[in-house]
Amino acid sequence: MTTQDYSPLATEGMPSGLLIGGTWVDVDSTFDVIDPATGDVIASVADSSVDQAMGALDSAVAAASRWAATSTRERAELLRRAFDLLTEQREDFARLISLEMGKPIAEARAEVDYGAEFLRWYSEEVSHIQGDYRTSPDGGSRMLISRRPIGPCLLITPWNFPLAMATRKVAAAIAAGCTSVLKPAAQTPLTSLKFADLLVSAGLPDGVLNVVTTRNARGVCAALLSDGRIRKVSFTGSTLVGRALVAQCGENIVRPSMELGGNAPFIVTADADLDKAVDGAMIAKMRNMGEACTAANRFLVHESLVEEFGRRLSERMSALVVGHGLDTQTQVGPVIDETARAKLTEFVSDAVHRGARLTAGGKAMTGPGTFFEPTVLTDVSPDANVFREEIFGPIAAVTSFRDIDDAISIANSTEYGLVAYLYTSGAEEGLRIAARLDFGMVALNRPIVSNAAAPFGGIKQSGLGREGGREGLHDYLDLQYVAVDA
Ligand code: NAP
Repeated sequence: MTTQDYSPLATEGMPSGLLIGGTWVDVDSTFDVIDPATGDVIASVADSSVDQAMGALDSAVAAASRWAATSTRERAELLRRAFDLLTEQREDFARLISLEMGKPIAEARAEVDYGAEFLRWYSEEVSHIQGDYRTSPDGGSRMLISRRPIGPCLLITPWNFPLAMATRKVAAAIAAGCTSVLKPAAQTPLTSLKFADLLVSAGLPDGVLNVVTTRNARGVCAALLSDGRIRKVSFTGSTLVGRALVAQCGENIVRPSMELGGNAPFIVTADADLDKAVDGAMIAKMRNMGEACTAANRFLVHESLVEEFGRRLSERMSALVVGHGLDTQTQVGPVIDETARAKLTEFVSDAVHRGARLTAGGKAMTGPGTFFEPTVLTDVSPDANVFREEIFGPIAAVTSFRDIDDAISIANSTEYGLVAYLYTSGAEEGLRIAARLDFGMVALNRPIVSNAAAPFGGIKQSGLGREGGREGLHDYLDLQYVAVDA
């Protein structure tokens, strides 16, 4: 592992204040941002008070009607300029993401590409916001149905994809004609600040996006929601916090969009292509060090293949290079913090205690930074915590099943319903099984579902609403129906 100091390169020229009404505002109180690979402080950012956050809301409200009245072409062109700028600055953004979040630089570049796609997708999709025209069945009236911006939004993002989770929300809000207050995660605020700065350079009018960094997420968000002027909250994060926010939305009937936790099954049927399944498992598990809501959490492998699958997966996991995300040879970075790492250690000991075999890794790594060995557990009991909870780290938990009914029943036995992975031979059989899986998304013989043009989201306790695709835009729009005499 490295001791090299990368921070000056990645944080050079960064804004560190609050973005309110188009101006970067410095405040007295600040908090530090830490490189999880070294424990070093890489920057300090503004720690917004509730009053300062209310100033950001005032600014979003003041800009709302002007922004709602802009043409869709104007919004499309702004988003396209932002896409072009982000593409030009790909490497700078990738370095910053890697530094504050820990992911390997190659994955950070992939995040920039994915995040930029939301800007491009919504720049194209915004011109296709459609209404409807109907006549009443009795012929007595005509119905003109149009879509209009829902109003000021509160956007709350997690630390695991600091750019893509912001662009996924901000691009849709801008396209829909909504103004917003963005509250990024306290552990990774720098990427959002840099992205907001990029939007200002692209010509974003004052007040359309306001950014509030704070250590008091609960107090700031509760105050913004109880004010009554926010019309929608879009949250990506844990189910625990999502549940609390949905309850707060009730007070003023605010529309909640919730992208919450997952517990993804990864099913490998007896006739699956094993090489392809192991390759897919490595990506579905290890993308983002396993710190993804979409990460494969439970590997369910047919009993005829499970031994060989476990052996190959263990070999591949043991060979991964762990290190600082900005070292080019690194394949696995640190997990986000000590709390997350301690939870991984507990998962391993609980699973082993319940009869699992440890076939790769299993321990926190010594030295600076919060690194954890890529780990494989086989023969995992269904009641182990590692199967019941979201792992959010580099642990693959494997078990076997006897027939497909058995696999589907295990897969569905969770309160979560975000994504399921399925490796099987034919597309027809794959579609039949997919229809029986209680998940908002199914990846069939492939390890990734994320795509700016797709309706990303979960069912059950994994969320409400969708992000991306045209559905993601509709979540920021209200319908108005005008009745006219025929
Ligand atoms: P988290 O603790 O729920 O935090 C998410 C965001 O909410 C952060 O900005 C956080 O601010 C803020 N927050 C925390 N408590 C709050 C409160 N009481 N009121 C309002 N905001 C509050 O989640 P996380 O640990 O950052 O992210 C990991 C979780 O996100 C996992 O469960 C993962 O599955 C989920 N996730 C879901 C998706 C999806 O699309 N479904 C995508 C990515 C991640 P602070 O940083 O200041 O605490």
